[in-house]
Amino acid sequence: MIKFFLSNAEDLVDPNYNFLTDEHPPNRDRWRDDVYAHQLFSEPISDGVFLSGVAKPSLKKRVEAAGGVHAFLRLSPDVPVMGDCGAFNYKEKDIPPYQTKEIVETYQRHDYTLGASIDHLIDPKSSLDEKQRRWDITLDNAEQFISKHRSTQLDFTPIGVAQGWDPTSYRQAAEKLLAFGYEYVAIGGVTRLHVKHLKPILKEVSTVLPGDVDLHLLGIARLSDLALFQSIGVTSFNGSTPIRRGTMGEYWTVPGKKYEAIRIPSANRKHRQYRSSGRLRRLDDIFDEGEISEKEFTKLEQACLSMLRAYDKGKTSLDEVLNTILQFNRLNGDTRDRRSKYEQTLYDRPWQTCPCEVCQDIGIEVIIFRGNDRNRRRGFHNAWIFYRQLQAALEAGR
Ligand SMILES: [Zn+2]
Repeated sequence: MIKFFLSNAEDLVDPNYNFLTDEHPPNRDRWRDDVYAHQLFSEPISDGVFLSGVAKPSLKKRVEAAGGVHAFLRLSPDVPVMGDCGAFNYKEKDIPPYQTKEIVETYQRHDYTLGASIDHLIDPKSSLDEKQRRWDITLDNAEQFISKHRSTQLDFTPIGVAQGWDPTSYRQAAEKLLAFGYEYVAIGGVTRLHVKHLKPILKEVSTVLPGDVDLHLLGIARLSDLALFQSIGVTSFNGSTPIRRGTMGEYWTVPGKKYEAIRIPSANRKHRQYRSSGRLRRLDDIFDEGEISEKEFTKLEQACLSMLRAYDKGKTSLDEVLNTILQFNRLNGDTRDRRSKYEQTLYDRPWQTCPCEVCQDIGIEVIIFRGNDRNRRRGFHNAWIFYRQLQAALEAGR
C-alpha cells in the first residue's frame, strides 16, 4: 500500500480561538498552546509526517528543545516521521549549506524514522556542466550518507535522493544509489513537473528498481497520477497541497468537488495579517476616499459574518447574504467576480455535511476566508478529505 506523508510546514492553529470575537485567549503562546493538524482529528490524516529543512537553525532549535521530533510534533512514537534538507530553499546556492555528518547526527539525535540524503536541485535550463555538477554533488552526498549510516549503525532508515534532468540521468542516479546499497530511493526535483514529463522519468527509473526497494516521490501530493505511481512501484509520497490549497481558499470534498471560501477580510486594524492577500485596498485608503466611514465599514463587515451565521441556521436568504458580502468585497477592492462561485458554496452548504472534526467543531467558519485560524483549519479539513480520497482510490485499485 502506498504511504502518504503529510508535509508539515509548522502548520498550527489555536484550539481555543474565539471565532465570534476573533480573539485568542489571553496569554496564548503559539508554540506551547497551538496544535497541529493531526491533533484535531481522532482518525489519521496521513501515514506519516514529513519535515523539510531538518537542519534549519530555527526548526532544529525547537525540535532539540522538545527532545525529539515526535515530541516536537506531539505525535505518537509509532507514526513515522520522514525528514529532508529542504533543497528548494538553497537551490540558488552553489553547494548545499549542510554537511552529511551534521545531517546524519540530526536525524539520529532527533529520532527521525526516515532521513533523506543531502540533495541539490537541478535547473533543467542550466548548462550541461552545471547539471552534471549538481548531479555529482547529490550522489557524492548520498554515498557519504549511507557509509556514515552504516559505520555508526544508526536507527533511522536512510533514503538516497536521486536528482536529474531527464529520464536517463534519473535512471543513472537510481542505479548509483542502488550500488551504494540503498533500499529506499527518493526522486527529487519533480514537484512541479507535469505528468507528461514525470511519467517517462518514473518509467525509466522503474526499469532498474528491484521490487523490494522502496521508492518515494518528494513533494507530490496529487491523486490524479496515483495509478501511474502504483504501476511504477512508488511506495510513498509526500506533500502539503491540501493544506496549502485550503489556506488559498479552496474547500475540498470527498467526491472531488472544490468550493471557493468566502472572503470576509477583517475591518479591524489590529488584524493586519487578515488583509495580507496583497490585492486588497489598505484600510486607510478606503476611508480616505470617503465612500464609507470606518464605523459603517466595520458594521458591514460584522453584518457579513452574522448574516453568514444566520444563513447557516436557515434564517436568511442566499441572495441577501450574497449581496452584502459582494458589496463588502467591492469596498475592499476585490475586483474578481466571485458571485457564481460564492453562490455555489452557499447553495450546497458543504460544511454542514462534512463529518470531519474541523467542520463539526466550527461549522460555517471553515468556509470563511479570514485569518490563519479559519484558513489553515480549512487546509486541515482538506488534508482529512485527501487522505479519505487516497484510501478510497487505493481500495478501488486493489
Ligand atoms: Zn470537514
